[in-house]
Amino acid sequence: MWQAEVRVDLDAIRDNVARLRSGTSAELMAVVKADGYGHGMVPAARAALDAGADWLGVCTLDEGLGLRRAGITAPVLAWLLAPGLPLHEGVAAGVDLGVPSLPLLDEMIEASRRADRPARLHLKIDTGLSRGGATVADWPALLEAAAKAQADGLVEVVGVWSHFVYADMPGHPTTDRQLAVFHEGLAMVERAGLRPRYRHLANSAATLTRPDTHFDLVRPGIACYGLSPIPGERFGLRPAMTARARVTLTKRVPEGTGVSYGHTYTTERAANLAVVPLGYADGVPRNASNVGPVQLGEVRRTISGRVCMDQFVLDCGDDPVAAGDVATLFGTGEHGEPLADDWAEATGTINYEIVTRFGGSRVPRVFDGERP
Ligand SMILES: *Cc1c(COP(=O)(O)O)cnc(C)c1O
Repeated sequence: MWQAEVRVDLDAIRDNVARLRSGTSAELMAVVKADGYGHGMVPAARAALDAGADWLGVCTLDEGLGLRRAGITAPVLAWLLAPGLPLHEGVAAGVDLGVPSLPLLDEMIEASRRADRPARLHLKIDTGLSRGGATVADWPALLEAAAKAQADGLVEVVGVWSHFVYADMPGHPTTDRQLAVFHEGLAMVERAGLRPRYRHLANSAATLTRPDTHFDLVRPGIACYGLSPIPGERFGLRPAMTARARVTLTKRVPEGTGVSYGHTYTTERAANLAVVPLGYADGVPRNASNVGPVQLGEVRRTISGRVCMDQFVLDCGDDPVAAGDVATLFGTGEHGEPLADDWAEATGTINYEIVTRFGGSRVPRVFDGERP
């Protein structure tokens, strides 16, 4: 018997990846950073590869090494690297590295020497996000240094890439501007004598809506997990994660009863209260207090009062509810339950954050679907 669980349907991940893969002639990098957006990095990676993903994308070196330790041999790119990391371990493990700057390129060259094998690099240009990547001004110097290191046999420039600003707004003019800057950056790559095999730019939103940005490789993350990068659209994706818990206790209380810390909710009439054992330690946002949607007994309800560290309360009116009943916070929507999108809307965030929050360790993660 379980108390609370996060179920992850690996077949849904497979379906989503297969669908994304068939919608492009580019290769596909399934992004499995942040523990696979809370779905479990290694199982999500295996399901994605099973469904035709060619690459895996992660944020940190540790994540990349974790994929290798799990025995995954597919190409892996790790792209967010602080100075001083043991990059030689990544090079030795065949983890491709994203390069945003000359100092990091120098560390990668050093790591290649130490690993006695050329680092596989993806040079990143900042086309407008002003986050990772070299500015257009710094780009020629980075290209020149990378071309020299490649000529010296120290590194292999495998890719050139960038990242979009407006994932959630198709048609935003910034996207076109970024694409134009990327093309300029690619022209400079050519002038520097580099011929990287992979040019890549598209996240989920661009993979789904902008085929002109696919180049040689697309990098969808959220869409692999069945969630839409664009609020209000579904793209026929199947959400993979369900978060649910069994009611621990019910009680009948009179009208005017204050509920949970601070009594921010008061019953308007006599009511059956149900205690649900999931709280902010498990991923439920505390600002879901009085707004988070939960399905209990086929009825969509709203959290009553504050979300606590471990639990929250539902006012179920006169509905018969009992300890052991299943309260579903979000899932596939197939049974009328809320979606992660509904939680995002209720709490002023994005579906990405909702599912990623539920990747925490206290709630057991259970996998459905074929385990690759
Ligand atoms: C997270 C991430 C992605 C995937 O973005 P989605 O919007 O989830 O598809 C792609 N590329 C980079 C660089 C990222 O950080």
